[in-house]
Amino acid sequence: MTRTYRLGCLLGDGIGPEIVPAARRVADAALAAAGAPPVDWVDLPMGAAALAEHGAAVPASTKAALTDCDGWLAGPHDNESYPPSWRASGERAPGGELRHVFDLWANLRPCRTRPGVTGRVPGMDLLIVRENTEGFYADRNMAVGSGEFMPTPDLALVVGVFSREAVRRVVRQAFALAEGRRRHVTVVHKANVLHLSFGLWLEECAAAAREHPGVRLETVLFDAMAARLVRSPEAFDVVVTENLFGDTLSDLAGELAGALGMSGSLNAGDRHAMAQAAHGSAPDIAGRGVANPVGMIASAAMLLTWLGARHDDAGAGRAGAAIERAIDSVLASGVATADVGGSAGTAEFADAVVRELGSRA
Ligand code: ATP
Ligand code: MG
Repeated sequence: MTRTYRLGCLLGDGIGPEIVPAARRVADAALAAAGAPPVDWVDLPMGAAALAEHGAAVPASTKAALTDCDGWLAGPHDNESYPPSWRASGERAPGGELRHVFDLWANLRPCRTRPGVTGRVPGMDLLIVRENTEGFYADRNMAVGSGEFMPTPDLALVVGVFSREAVRRVVRQAFALAEGRRRHVTVVHKANVLHLSFGLWLEECAAAAREHPGVRLETVLFDAMAARLVRSPEAFDVVVTENLFGDTLSDLAGELAGALGMSGSLNAGDRHAMAQAAHGSAPDIAGRGVANPVGMIASAAMLLTWLGARHDDAGAGRAGAAIERAIDSVLASGVATADVGGSAGTAEFADAVVRELGSRA
């Protein structure tokens, strides 16, 4: 049903203040072209600037405001800008904090070779579904609080957490998404070494496969997956895995598809979703207006598609799909940023996508 969405806008650090406004402009244009009502945007502080001004990278006021939002666009955070004291106190990075607080349990990271971008591999089109709340990410393990500690000054321990509930929901999500794609799920694991943890993963995958008889399930070891992704990425459709493995594989897959700046990502929970590009804050090019906004724009498109499905809202769904097509048309016409061989700036690229959306309306 048609709906006016309230969406947060969190710029973050580094290239965030350049790519987030670009994505917001494109989302506005896509909704207008789809005949959907405009977004009620809420600008909220997050990142190093918020830490300096409000004493927290994700201030309590930001969290409170996000509770009332349907979703939000979030820029990256810059690991360099946070004082050592902040890190030593065990605070989570802003993205991790938001994933934790809002239980954004599935991180969806599509990696696709786009037209006009000489990806290292043609014909690649896969979707990484990364478990987003536990696994080897010790800083956000719900079950144990902080999962990293030093019992003596010379011994550091890290706890990996794999709860059946968290594994089950993300595996089910992967199978559901595969039904709408090429019906192939690859689970990436390390059960040859970690029998219990990944044994649980494999059990849940086998159970989901029984519920989806039309979907082929393949199991691949994490190390073998790194090699196979480089050799034949076109052989994969939906790839589901734990947090740290998913993070690593999505950088690899993103780069294979063209460049880090091309990869969008959505952190989705039951009630909220956060659109955040898969790459980091790229401090080396921040402030120069040259960052590739495709990853962030594609993330915004995923958010609109997610809202459309969640609220049975055809307008938002159409807007999400239209952005994807418009990005491809603009790239195919030869307009691209420097990281993928073009000469367009961030705003110039976004302008071209906005024009393309308008011309199709
Ligand atoms: P962080 O600590 O925030 O992850 P980083 O230095 O690791 O920062 P990333 O953002 O992870 O930087 O990206 C690695 C490199 O890839 C950057 O230094 C940058 O050159 C390039 N890069 C990443 N994203 C983009 C983008 N959107 N546009 C252009 N180049 C990018
Ligand atoms: Mg990085």
